[in-house]
Amino acid sequence: MANLGFIGLGIMGKPMAVHLLKAGHRVFVYDLNPLPVHELSAKGAAACRSNKEVAEKSDIIILMLPDTPDVESALFGKEGVAEGVKKGSVVVDMSSISPIATKEFAKKLGEMGVEMLDAPVSGGQVGAENATLSIMVGGKAEVFEKIKPFFEVMGKNIVHIGGHGDGQTCKVANQIVVALTIEAVSEALVFASKAGADPRKVRQALLGGFAQSRILDLHGERMINRSFKPGFRIQLHRKDLNLALQAARQLGVSLPNTATAQELFNAVVAQESDQLDHSAMVLALEKLANHKVCE
Ligand code: NAD
Repeated sequence: MANLGFIGLGIMGKPMAVHLLKAGHRVFVYDLNPLPVHELSAKGAAACRSNKEVAEKSDIIILMLPDTPDVESALFGKEGVAEGVKKGSVVVDMSSISPIATKEFAKKLGEMGVEMLDAPVSGGQVGAENATLSIMVGGKAEVFEKIKPFFEVMGKNIVHIGGHGDGQTCKVANQIVVALTIEAVSEALVFASKAGADPRKVRQALLGGFAQSRILDLHGERMINRSFKPGFRIQLHRKDLNLALQAARQLGVSLPNTATAQELFNAVVAQESDQLDHSAMVLALEKLANHKVCE
């Protein structure tokens, strides 16, 4: 059984760390927020006082943090992983962050004799809780093979995409598809509801045909039930679409509908909050249509 570190015990990280504990591993945990650290130690994890301490005690250090600056500070900031990590350890960043920064982090760790994989996930809170995440991995093939058994405890569809940063590039592509599908489901439900059809029945019918998707299923249900507690916060999806739009500018790629989806998120943030679930994109389209999918 391995000595694993887990840093970042939020909506995603907490259930993922629990799966690793249940598989029999020793798991050393840390989060800036003490609450989930206490919850995890009650389940058998070893609580640490810093990211440095996690790194000192673990051979494989997993991170599940919100954004690029959080990963940078957890790795290279004060009391960070770099201060405690042993040569030969592997850092596995499962957060969704910048592919370019990921390459820099991997290079810096490599110079310290530490391997890195980027391994962002898709499947949301439900996927994390059910250990059915899709995991998209960048880094050396031999390091991927070494870490794969641990990925299999947390996920189902595990794909080695390519070199450092390629897992993150794949995740950005994933987030484009998710945002545009939420937009399409929102438009369809607003349209059908204002036309007088019952949105519940419309969703039910569409789930059996070509328009079927997990987003129509899960996010469509949230739109109908008005349950916008995250889930996946708009704040995080805006971060991902920013990565998409910035990279697209550098690459000379036009992403017209990604830009529109980002503007709709911006409108929801202006009127409501960036802490709502991303299915709340429907609120912006409801405002434009002057009609709510459901009361
Ligand atoms: P979250 O905000 O719920 O959890 C992040 C945790 O990291 C928090 O508990 C926070 O206190 C902790 N943290 C932040 N900085 C830290 C630091 N320097 N050291 C230690 N702990 C620190 O976020 P989440 O929803 O779990 O998402 C995590 C990542 O996974 C994000 O990159 C997100 O884009 C991605 N993701 C989320 C979902 C989802 O449905 N929530 C799905 C797929 C991918």
